[in-house]
Amino acid sequence: PVDGNDGDALMKNADAAMYHAKTAGRNNFQFFDARMNDAALERLSIEHALRQALGRDEFRLHFQPVIDVRSGRVEGVEALVRWQHPERGLLPPGVFIGVAEETGLIQPLGEWVFWAACRQLADFRAAGIDDVRMGINISAVQMRNGNLPVLARGAIEAFSLNPGDLMFEITESVAMEQPDETVRALDVLHDMGVTLALDDFGTGYSSLSYLRMFALDHLKLDRSFVEEIGQDIDGQVICDATIGLAHNLGLRLIAEGVETEAQLAYLKSKGCDLVQGYLFSKPLPADEVLAFIRQRNF
Ligand code: C2E
Ligand code: CA
Ligand code: CA
Repeated sequence: PVDGNDGDALMKNADAAMYHAKTAGRNNFQFFDARMNDAALERLSIEHALRQALGRDEFRLHFQPVIDVRSGRVEGVEALVRWQHPERGLLPPGVFIGVAEETGLIQPLGEWVFWAACRQLADFRAAGIDDVRMGINISAVQMRNGNLPVLARGAIEAFSLNPGDLMFEITESVAMEQPDETVRALDVLHDMGVTLALDDFGTGYSSLSYLRMFALDHLKLDRSFVEEIGQDIDGQVICDATIGLAHNLGLRLIAEGVETEAQLAYLKSKGCDLVQGYLFSKPLPADEVLAFIRQRNF
């Protein structure tokens, strides 16, 4: 009764509490708290600003090199979106991707990312770099709405790209949400020749039988496990086991978030194929990543 003076206010606040309960997962309840309305307002203001940002062309892509463990060469880059906010500066995706997904704005944003990444790949070619793959993160919404193949075909043709040079990264939790749909969607993309990776592996609840059915090329081991190398024996065991799992499924393993020489040495000793992380490079603007590739690959 203290959460509103009339029926309308009580219903509105109960609704906010329900919304929170839903985002916290299944089978739980939440009591209303005034801060929930602040969070809702914050979301609204970000949504409004995101819409404007799309129109004003304020999004940027940075690219993080993916390194071949054995040769040390750059074998690909991952496109990571940033928002060049007029007042707040360069914002990381953690600040806005969630709201973009909730509001459907991830659809136009995802398309922007896709085209910008493909254009960059074509620019790499024009600059004489023709053996580097472009990783693109695919959101749950893009995965579900089914127009990825159309988008991919369009960009491949428009920029005369080799389909295998595009790598779609789908998170484990999104892939396992509707696994039968995922099997079908990945089959279509695989038949087009697009490279496919399961992202953030180890953080979701994978069914191993589905894992086998997904037409994947790579597993990306989540950073949280790499972090534990040399610190926590359980984390280390998971890294080890995941490398084995990937190889037994005929997949290459990419370890994310490699920050130390010790982590690299351990992963290398266990046969990890590819690594990505601050030890080599943070995500960089296009001109800087181009210089990085030139320096390492020639
Ligand atoms: P992700 O796909 O797991 O991307 C890797 C994240 O780890 C990036 O954060 C990257 O900067 C960070 N990272 C890489 N190496 C290291 C390291 O050695 N140490 C640490 N501590 N962090 C490292 P970022 O750029 O903030 O992106 C966060 C997430 O936002 C991404 O996680 C991805 O899920 C999402 N995201 C980014 N760009 C896009 C996009 O274009 N579309 C969609 N749908 N999601 C995106
Ligand atoms: Ca990723
Ligand atoms: Ca990841």
